[in-house]
Amino acid sequence: MTVSSNVQSTRQVHQCPANGCDAIINKKFLMCFTHWRMVPRALQLRVYATYRRGQENQGIGAASDEYVEAMAEAIRIVNEQIRAAGA
Ligand SMILES: [Zn+2]
Repeated sequence: MTVSSNVQSTRQVHQCPANGCDAIINKKFLMCFTHWRMVPRALQLRVYATYRRGQENQGIGAASDEYVEAMAEAIRIVNEQIRAAGA
């Protein structure tokens, strides 16, 4: 995965959706690297497989239902682990 240098536009970034995380990341990435690593590999692959190139620039509805589902599951799993860790 390459890191985009196009971070001038603030619209290209968002906050990591994990509970209590204030990392600001490129919209290309679902969550910060620390939290992304907590997502099981199979689910990571599902997110990649359902991602549509450029969907983050096309507003809500551009992403497939499968992507939204995989994304929600990834966020849920990460937040469960954060809770389990007592953070
Ligand atoms: Zn995070």
